[in-house]
Amino acid sequence: MTARPIRIVPLHRPSELFVPGRPAKAPAAQLTYRGGPLLTSVQVFSVFWGAAWQDPAQQSLVQGLNGFLQFVVSSAYLDQLSEYNTPEQAIVHGRYTGTATITDPAPASSVSDSAIQQMLERQVARKSLPAATPNSLYCIWLPSGVTVVSGNERSCQVFCGYHDRSPAGFYYAVLPYPDCAGCLGGLGPLDALTSVASHELAEAITDPVPGQGWYDDSNGEIGDVCAWQNKKLGGYVVQTLWSNRAKACV
Ligand SMILES: [Zn+2]
Repeated sequence: MTARPIRIVPLHRPSELFVPGRPAKAPAAQLTYRGGPLLTSVQVFSVFWGAAWQDPAQQSLVQGLNGFLQFVVSSAYLDQLSEYNTPEQAIVHGRYTGTATITDPAPASSVSDSAIQQMLERQVARKSLPAATPNSLYCIWLPSGVTVVSGNERSCQVFCGYHDRSPAGFYYAVLPYPDCAGCLGGLGPLDALTSVASHELAEAITDPVPGQGWYDDSNGEIGDVCAWQNKKLGGYVVQTLWSNRAKACV
């Protein structure tokens, strides 16, 4: 069996000390372009799956996450991706295209990746979610208490988030609620989720079909070498990203 390309945020390991701009402790990565599409002007739609997101106690988190997406798509975080332009594809600022809460169907306490893909494709068919364009990325947030299972791996046991492309060709990122220390990384839920979401956003832009965009065979995608190495941008916690040019996480 061939391993799938790395596209997850692993659990935080508390021993990792990091200063932005300093080379990562991991062996230097060198991402190379594999010929596939990039999301050159990402259109991010924010999907909250589950009635739990309608709880008044969740509204500040919901608004914080949507505010983050709105900010980050036209921020310096996107500018720093331009070193990964290709002769035919230039990465520019994106757009936040809105948000929806999906309650029917409700997520089970354990949802598989294929259940997430089905939800996405059905809600788009039903027009509860906007149709996909070649630049669309659906960010799917799961509420507390819901475990995501992808292959044999579970959220909070192996990963804190991932991105992929569905069979219908929709690009999506999955952001389970950080119900464990390994996915909080010493942060509060909002900061932990913006860190993981920034990682997946940058990877979905530069490697939307995992392994067919910018990829390093031993280190994975742009965010993987730098997992949990965070910085502040516009008041939000974002993860640093591997720069071929700087040979560091920046
Ligand atoms: Zn990653």
